[in-house]
Amino acid sequence: MVPKVRFLLPLVLVTGCTIGLSAEEPVSVGSPLAGHLVKGVSLPPQGEGYVLLRPEEPTHFGTPSLVGLVQRVAAGVARRHPGGAPLVVGDLSARYGGAHPRHRTHRNGRDVDIFYPMLSLDGRSEGGRPYLHLGRFGAARGGEQGRLDLPRAFSLVELLLQDPETEVQWIFCERGLKARLLRYGVAVGADPEVLFRASWVLQQPTGAAPHDDHFHVRVFCSPRERALGCEDRPPHWPWVEMKEDSARPNEGDDQLLTWIGEGGL
Ligand SMILES: [Zn+2]
Repeated sequence: MVPKVRFLLPLVLVTGCTIGLSAEEPVSVGSPLAGHLVKGVSLPPQGEGYVLLRPEEPTHFGTPSLVGLVQRVAAGVARRHPGGAPLVVGDLSARYGGAHPRHRTHRNGRDVDIFYPMLSLDGRSEGGRPYLHLGRFGAARGGEQGRLDLPRAFSLVELLLQDPETEVQWIFCERGLKARLLRYGVAVGADPEVLFRASWVLQQPTGAAPHDDHFHVRVFCSPRERALGCEDRPPHWPWVEMKEDSARPNEGDDQLLTWIGEGGL
């Protein structure tokens, strides 16, 4: 039984010297631990290669770069592995971000959970689900059956790291599964650049659950989002250019007052 949850509209304090918010554009504000989301976009309940785990809950909002990334990589995995079960996508952020009842992060539209693609004992493709915990060799634990679908899981990682539009900062996963994914990538002759990036980006987080039932993906701000006030936190990977969109909006007080006058809050 899932407890009834409540998503609170975060209190937004506005000062004339903060970020250049535009009345029209979505932006991720602050950190994944203490931020919120302005005009987040919704990931549809299902699309090519994925389904939302909890479509009835308002936890499917993110920045355009995150939502677009999920749609592109899910479609990519589906096309590479025809007949595969759709990826199961868990929480993004609430409509306005802020505190999330199931997570310490997921507050500013740049985090998404994707459950591990699985194979049944007889080799059928399945979506993962919460609490289907995997051991470090990829087999389901705790009386459950099935194992990690390594080809589909590696394709997902590869597509996340090769996406032409969105830069991924972290793919949190249990460290034994990371080792299996890297070993699989070497065995199939994956692009060395992908393996190099994966060796950094795949990470078992410290001070949090080991992530043995899902990948937790966090993205950097896009250049446009950065110009609008989205803030990246370290680490910044050497292959990611931390540039801003050259079409930076007017950030002056006049612009801010105009925006407030138009009902921007
Ligand atoms: Zn997560």
